[in-house]
Amino acid sequence: MNVLSPGSTIGILGGGQLGRMLSIAASRLGYKCHIYCPEINSPAAQVSALTTHAYYEDTDQLEKFARSVDVITYEFENIPVATVDFLTQRKPVFPGSKVLEVSQDRLKEKEFINSLGIETAPFNGVSDIKETLNALETINYPAVLKTRRLGYDGKGQAILKSQDDLKAAWDKLGSNEIILEGFVDFELEISVIAARGQDGEIKCYVPVENKHKNHILDISIAPARIDDDLKQEAVFFAKKIIENIDYVGVLTVEFFVSSTEPRLRVNEIAPRVHNSGHWTIEACATSQFEQHIRAICGLPLGEVDFNGEARMINLIGEDILQFHDLVSQAENYVHHYGKSEVKAGRKMGHITRLYQDKN
Ligand code: AMP
Repeated sequence: MNVLSPGSTIGILGGGQLGRMLSIAASRLGYKCHIYCPEINSPAAQVSALTTHAYYEDTDQLEKFARSVDVITYEFENIPVATVDFLTQRKPVFPGSKVLEVSQDRLKEKEFINSLGIETAPFNGVSDIKETLNALETINYPAVLKTRRLGYDGKGQAILKSQDDLKAAWDKLGSNEIILEGFVDFELEISVIAARGQDGEIKCYVPVENKHKNHILDISIAPARIDDDLKQEAVFFAKKIIENIDYVGVLTVEFFVSSTEPRLRVNEIAPRVHNSGHWTIEACATSQFEQHIRAICGLPLGEVDFNGEARMINLIGEDILQFHDLVSQAENYVHHYGKSEVKAGRKMGHITRLYQDKN
């Protein structure tokens, strides 16, 4: 166990809104944060004691950063594995680089999930059109071609409805490290935010239902509107995943829910706090952000219980221009991420609303 006392400094790789909310949660518990990211005036730097603006490959800056902090974490999964390995030789890093290697590659990720006996979409790694055609003999249309690395919010994806779509899809993706996935006919998408402490204790928030617009998360509804057995099964799978990857911190598991068996298939895992867990800030005694800070600082995990209904609505692009209206409505918990430039598709903030307890 690596127990840190308040006053210690937490290093966070990445300066986005997740880092910002981690830093706010850390400061509530008396910790300072040092943000490391290439961007100037990042959302996380605005609320943190220290910032280093440097590239993730800059070993001189990484060395100095490591010397200035007591523990290191990251807020997005595309941090180079080499950066995390470099830092691990100098200070404790939670979660470690093992989960990054798996979650940065959709092929390795799906192989890992299946190795635990948990279903995913059927898939095949492919590197050209000929291999895709071969794989389609078992996977069939419709299918999805995705880049193995660096895809998010629907980027790096192309749907194949028939053989006619193949060439355009390959041209669009522009990589030969591709995964072909069978198209899952799902009813809804859910996620489970799980946390594991340094002592191995695991706690999961109730599964949350996620609705997307233009491939970007739009609304999360907690709890997900699925039956209790399915909720329990999703939590069971999330626990199995977090336990088997030697993980410390918060990890998110996204599932497709279908009306036919297998009802749950993992779409992907994110080795971090997640947009679909923002509702926990107001709805639970311990938010996903505080939970992550507790885990990496060697503290006991906090309470995750929640009996009401919560809705989180993302403020994307120009939605943020309604800020004054939103803050004037009593039911809204408004979060502004401090980003100065409004861009289409950019996550600018979110609101959460809580509804009466069912009990
Ligand atoms: P991803 O970047 O893999 O999370 O995919 C973004 C979104 O595309 C998902 O949230 C789904 O709505 C959709 N999607 C991705 N993969 C599949 C699939 N194999 N079958 C059906 N829909 C998918």
